[in-house]
Amino acid sequence: MCKIEGSDFDSGPSRITRIEKSRKQRWCDTCDAELAVGAPYVTVWWVSDGNNHTEVACPACWDANETFAKSHALAWISPGSFLSLLGDCVVDEDDPTDPWRPMLTEIATRLRDNVVRRNARVAEALHG
Ligand SMILES: [Zn+2]
Ligand SMILES: [Zn+2]
Repeated sequence: MCKIEGSDFDSGPSRITRIEKSRKQRWCDTCDAELAVGAPYVTVWWVSDGNNHTEVACPACWDANETFAKSHALAWISPGSFLSLLGDCVVDEDDPTDPWRPMLTEIATRLRDNVVRRNARVAEALHG
């Protein structure tokens, strides 16, 4: 059985906004995808311990996030916490037909590819 519990995500964040066109370049806090100028994305804003937090997600990650949160009776999940929660869920399931496994694989693969791409760009910038 999945042991994920609500804690931080039992009640809603202060604001979730779907943005149609990004006005500056950002990176998805779940999969590290580049959100280029003009690309749609979702911004999540909340306050915890008296601090403001803002994270962003690409539409693909946010759709998966919402689906996963709903089926786990969570009000929301921050983009930066989503992959680890998803990992916790799948690790707790011994069943290889776990319905969340494909979602985890898909996002983890996306993250890996995006990080490889970003590292290549950084190496190029450093070494010319
Ligand atoms: Zn993403
Ligand atoms: Zn679960």
